[in-house]
Amino acid sequence: MLTNNLGYPRIGSKRELKKACEQYWSGNSSIQSLVQTGKDIRKQNWELQKAAGIDLIPSNDFSFYDQVLDLSLTVGAIPRRYHEVILNKRNNELDLYFAMARGYQKDGLDITAMEMTKWFDTNYHYIVPEFLKDQQFKLFSTKIIDEYSESVRLGIKTKPVIIGPVSYLLLGKEKESDFDRIDLIKNLLPVYVDLLKKLEEQHVEWVQLDEPFLSLDLTEKDRVAYKYVYTELKKQFPKLKILLATYFGALQDNAALVASLPVYALHIDLVRSPEQLERVLELILVNMYLSVGVVDGRDVWKNDFQKSLNLIELALESVGHDRLIISPSCSLIHSPCDLDLETNEETLPLEIKDWMAFAKQKIDEVVVLKQLANDKDLADPRLVANFDSNENRSASTLIHNPVVKQRVAAITETDDQRHSRFSVRQELQRKSLNLPLFPTTTIGSFPQTPEVRSWRAKYKKGDLSLAEYDALLEAETTETIRFQEDAGIDVLVHGEFERNDMVEYFGEQLAGFAFTKNGWVQSYGSRCVKPPVIYGDVYRPAPMTVRWAAYAQSLTDKWVKGMLTGPVTILQWSFVRNDQPRSETCTQIALAIRDEVNDLESVGIKIIQIDEPAIREGLPLRKADWQNYLEWAVRAFRISASGVKDDTQIHTHMCYSEFNDIIQNIADMDADVITIECSRSQMELLDVFADFKYPNEIGPGVYDIHSPRVPRKEEMVTLLEKARKVIPASQLWVNPDCGLKTRHWEETKKALTEMVAAAKVLRESV
Ligand code: GLN
Ligand code: ZN
Repeated sequence: MLTNNLGYPRIGSKRELKKACEQYWSGNSSIQSLVQTGKDIRKQNWELQKAAGIDLIPSNDFSFYDQVLDLSLTVGAIPRRYHEVILNKRNNELDLYFAMARGYQKDGLDITAMEMTKWFDTNYHYIVPEFLKDQQFKLFSTKIIDEYSESVRLGIKTKPVIIGPVSYLLLGKEKESDFDRIDLIKNLLPVYVDLLKKLEEQHVEWVQLDEPFLSLDLTEKDRVAYKYVYTELKKQFPKLKILLATYFGALQDNAALVASLPVYALHIDLVRSPEQLERVLELILVNMYLSVGVVDGRDVWKNDFQKSLNLIELALESVGHDRLIISPSCSLIHSPCDLDLETNEETLPLEIKDWMAFAKQKIDEVVVLKQLANDKDLADPRLVANFDSNENRSASTLIHNPVVKQRVAAITETDDQRHSRFSVRQELQRKSLNLPLFPTTTIGSFPQTPEVRSWRAKYKKGDLSLAEYDALLEAETTETIRFQEDAGIDVLVHGEFERNDMVEYFGEQLAGFAFTKNGWVQSYGSRCVKPPVIYGDVYRPAPMTVRWAAYAQSLTDKWVKGMLTGPVTILQWSFVRNDQPRSETCTQIALAIRDEVNDLESVGIKIIQIDEPAIREGLPLRKADWQNYLEWAVRAFRISASGVKDDTQIHTHMCYSEFNDIIQNIADMDADVITIECSRSQMELLDVFADFKYPNEIGPGVYDIHSPRVPRKEEMVTLLEKARKVIPASQLWVNPDCGLKTRHWEETKKALTEMVAAAKVLRESV
């Protein structure tokens, strides 16, 4: 039996890589020191895995920015606009690489970055490869070979991890019309052959080719490409041990194809889909090695050894000891580095910590599972300890709250429905709110200045008392209300100055959440996130936002909009407990938000926004699973929003507007008003709403908040006139694309003043 790892976090347990990259980017450190940081992290990771007892240790899982971008550079898929960066002799390969990742504004050049998008259903973002019709590939960067040699020099013969050629093409985008990127496979494969030859010359034994698309819906053409690639590689490299890695789901209808590919070993994800084991065992070729992914690479929870051992047992019966490989389910980059660093019992009590495992601990679990499977000793103290932890977890009163469970069970059909249908509510809201046509508003946050952030830091450190901190926030809120009044905005917001992050702020006040100090995972490039950990039944011990909404409302005669994060977004941006369905946890959060919505209403807040920017990213990878997800996700939103009177107006907000496939579900959310991002597409994305005849009110963003540029009134008038052509004027709101927390006050003030002026132009034209 072998132990294997598919990838280890590369950010460093103290985010060393983030700091090193940002220093280099800002010109404060040399390329040598950046390169050295990379080397140090790789060495640390390899040695840690070796010491733990991992047989197949990955290399090329390290990346200065993103593994897909690494591969684009490796195979020479470098868009033409970056060629000038290469021509400048002062630039090295990493400068070119970072230019592709982040854009290049230097030496009189202004080159845009490559697009970024989500890596399957994770919160990791990769750089999307760009392909032309006659796209040529050639071995450009030798990173993969270099990192392999580096490991050998350290006495560790690693297994290079490379995204497989079919998945690489599928991850990309055609930049010209009239061709299908999968047709580029014939051009691309020779580069892989070239690369693998060079690796073989260095005596590489194992290579892992990641083909996560094998767990997704494939076209016939994709399947043909798979067959072609792996047959060809077998021909050219009969001795190379290729581990074909699939993850993030079941192979399902691709199982027969996968099992027929002539590779040395196959990895399957048994965390996402333990059921697929039997089928795969029936199908795989007699000599094939099987890697069973039994330790969850995407969560923070301790493995259930007994459950994993049952799967391992089953696999052993068919493939035998010699051909079985034990692994995490996928790369560990989606899990934080090291639980040992978590020593703050206040935010992460010892009892909860005992249920958890981060990457380092997961590596140990893989090794222990192998030993347990070999020894079959039921009294093995490690098995017993694991059993005890999991038993304690399933019975803990920290987790289980009968009141919450009963409340979820008691939800009735009317609890996710407003009293009256939208047209009735709209009438009542018009009367009670008395807003002008094209009402103006913002999405919630106002600039989080360095001062605002320094107050929070000081307060947390104890350098400011609660009273002092509160007074500062009150002053900032007051100023923001005054500005909005002066600017003539119709529906005001308090500015969200008291919030660190739109999920953490709520998590900190809800029961069932814990927090880590170092639980960082890479989101994109040097950006890391530290998701809260939902470990138990969620409820709201006390109101969370009422104080600030009520305070802001007390300052003005205009309406102040209450501001909440929705249940799906809170779920989506946290580490979620794995002992009950996500839908159940989401429903619990929905009830907590519902309580908050009702409390806001009861103190006189008549407009309440429930942000759901993450609802779309929660969509499952397989289309067949969409409906089920959308049903519970939309229901959760509705539960949170439906406790209020008809004349209370519910808003929602999403930071995008690609609703093609899900517009019906968005309509089903039945928010009275939805604000979306639209300015970057020049309102084109609004057409989906228009074609659907979306019945409720819409605020298509009229300017991009990601840029410091101040838009002129005329531009926004043009956009609004465009919007008005497809959406009735009585349904339209005027607002920016998203919250303003990353902007400076100066541009914010100017931009919003122009925006109000644009709304006035439209009103006068009616
Ligand atoms: N209300 C939040 C804000 O304005 C919404 C943020 C978001 O959509 N991501 O900051
Ligand atoms: Zn947004």
